[in-house]
Amino acid sequence: MLRQAPIEFARVVYGLSDHANGRLGTAAAEDVARMVRKGTPVTRERAEQRARAYLPTAGHAHCPRCWVFASVKSPLHYREAVAERPESAVCKVCGAEYATGNV
Ligand SMILES: [Zn+2]
Repeated sequence: MLRQAPIEFARVVYGLSDHANGRLGTAAAEDVARMVRKGTPVTRERAEQRARAYLPTAGHAHCPRCWVFASVKSPLHYREAVAERPESAVCKVCGAEYATGNV
């Protein structure tokens, strides 16, 4: 999960850039817009600080997206691998899904 935090920070950067350029339909822009609607301002500086500070506990990681976007620690729910998808971790708060098999 540790390597997901910089990826989520990149989403914040893309989302802010898309937002500023009127491309509101992208997934990253929608994530930023959702946080702003909740009253959580999203800034590049704060997201970068949080991405650096992301420190998950093995087996009890919290959602990198909720953390980087909103400074919220949402527990990830781990799912066993099945035929059509690998082992993954899912956030029920923001809907993020992370493959965990090779992390
Ligand atoms: Zn989340």
